[in-house]
Amino acid sequence: MFRRRETGQNPSANELAEAERVAALHPVQQKAHPSAVAADPSRLRHINTYGALPEYYIDRPFICRACGKQEIWKAADQKWYYEDAKGHIDAKAVECHACRTTRNQR
Ligand SMILES: [Zn+2]
Repeated sequence: MFRRRETGQNPSANELAEAERVAALHPVQQKAHPSAVAADPSRLRHINTYGALPEYYIDRPFICRACGKQEIWKAADQKWYYEDAKGHIDAKAVECHACRTTRNQR
C-alpha cells in the first residue's frame, strides 16, 4: 500500500489553514475528525502528569522559534514521539525541520 510520508515540512497554505481550523475545534469534534489519530494509553505509561493523558493526536501548526517558519507537527509524528520515542508530554515541537537538522549537525 502506498502511503505518502507526511512530515508537515513545507506545508501548503491550505494545509496550514486546515490544521489551524481543526486545532481550534472543540475537543469532541477534534477526536471525531478524520485527521485525528487515536492514542494508545498502554504506551503512555512513562508519562507522569497530573493532567490528563492525550486520547488522540491532531495536526498542530506551530511557528519555529529559531527562524519563524510555519510548520505542522503531524498527528502521526506526535504519536511516534510520545509512544515510541517516549517523549515527555510537555515537550512540543518548537523548531522546524531545517533548524533541527542544522542544530543536530553542529
Ligand atoms: Zn526554523
